Amino acid sequence: MPKLHVIVGAGQTGANAAVAMRGAGFDGRILLLGEEAHAPYERPPLSKSALTDDPEPAPGWFYPTEKFATLDIEVRLGTVATELDPGGHTLALSDGAVLAFDRLLLATGGRARKLPVPGGEHALLLRTLEDARRIRPKLVPGARVVCVGAGVIGLETASSAHQRGCRVTVLEAAPGVMGRAMTPDMARWMERLHTSRGVALHLGCGVSAIEPGRVIAADGRVFPADVVIAGVGMVRNTELARAAGLEVENGIVVDEFGRTGVSDIYAAGDVAAFWHPSLHRRLRLEAWKHAQNHGIAVGRAMAGVAEQYDDVPWYWTDQHGVTVQVAGLPHESAATILRGDDAATSFSAFHLDLNGRVVAATGVNAARDVRAALTMIQKGMAPDPAKLADPATKLQDLLKAG
Ligand SMILES: Cc1cc2nc3c(=O)[nH]c(=O)nc-3n(C[C@H](O)[C@H](O)[C@H](O)COP(=O)(O)OP(=O)(O)OC[C@H]3O[C@@H](n4cnc5c(N)ncnc54)[C@H](O)[C@@H]3O)c2cc1C
Repeated sequence: MPKLHVIVGAGQTGANAAVAMRGAGFDGRILLLGEEAHAPYERPPLSKSALTDDPEPAPGWFYPTEKFATLDIEVRLGTVATELDPGGHTLALSDGAVLAFDRLLLATGGRARKLPVPGGEHALLLRTLEDARRIRPKLVPGARVVCVGAGVIGLETASSAHQRGCRVTVLEAAPGVMGRAMTPDMARWMERLHTSRGVALHLGCGVSAIEPGRVIAADGRVFPADVVIAGVGMVRNTELARAAGLEVENGIVVDEFGRTGVSDIYAAGDVAAFWHPSLHRRLRLEAWKHAQNHGIAVGRAMAGVAEQYDDVPWYWTDQHGVTVQVAGLPHESAATILRGDDAATSFSAFHLDLNGRVVAATGVNAARDVRAALTMIQKGMAPDPAKLADPATKLQDLLKAG
């Protein structure tokens, strides 16, 4: 009997793990199980081009359909894994089947958090292709759109709605946008970006109810709304793991190879809280590059090619025609060194800890600077702040010096 490796979750992480597992030489059966009806597709366009472009763009499939067949990867869509027995190495499915696996990967990601207020069910959510297709036709010129939550999804949706000619209001309960995903100074820059384009941004403004045609704020203010979209975070799909007795904290707990505490069971991507060997802490990330590379690393580890996964965190966001990239751990920042003019169309900011080490960087249309920053963060470099601030000093020279 050939060995069976089952991957639960046919998202970005699961798809990449399957392909990488085969590429690393695993010659048994690979079964990729997905609750959604679609082959693995890209989520980033859902809050961007899928809402703004005409005609509606085709989904961004990760792989052409024939790729999985070519690699002899079985893909079973519209199927939910319902019960995991780690000791017995079995997995029950929604179609009644029970699989006996040799190794299992949980790449179950997350789902959009519902707005926990009366009438919250009327707010549209954005995680899946269907969600984007529900929102898209509502973004008509002049529509009053209220986005609840000013994280990446809320702000990108606000930007897309604005691009469609909607009148956009963003309500955020916290005192600033982007939570811990950006340093406070760069978050303020994002706030100015939105308000300068005409988005009405209300910070410190919690929502207490959604009523027909309006949103009621906790302080009693009333915001008229034709469309309400909630971008209030992601709920991790950890139920299967938790019920099976796996350790779950902020996500499914795994080591630097994606292994849970139970032999032959792995987790990766948005759902996994993994040990980062060079940053010396447990992290859980919700980002495209992480889903890709963690999936690949853990897929390879399951095939017997175990390499520590230690990518520096990185994500990008597109808002109002600007591409912002963030590398590292922004919430560790003690000081920001601005490189260039933050009123210009392109500049970067390097964020240092108390020892002067680069711990994070933000690039506004400045991909090259962020690439250099990734190396500085990885190596724990502490470049001369004056040189870092001077655009005339090449970052490559600082890297060599470091
Ligand atoms: C709208 C949007 C925009 C984004 N934009 C950006 C961006 O600009 N930049 C960036 O860096 N990142 C972005 N991201 C983040 C990035 O897309 C995610 O980090 C990535 O999709 C995570 O992949 P994943 O496979 O780990 O999880 P998911 O994409 O959540 O996939 C998990 C899959 O598992 C399935 N599943 C769950 N439980 C079961 C079960 N029991 N049985 C079977 N199947 C199951 C789910 O249905 C889902 O299809 C964005 C995300 C969203 C939603």
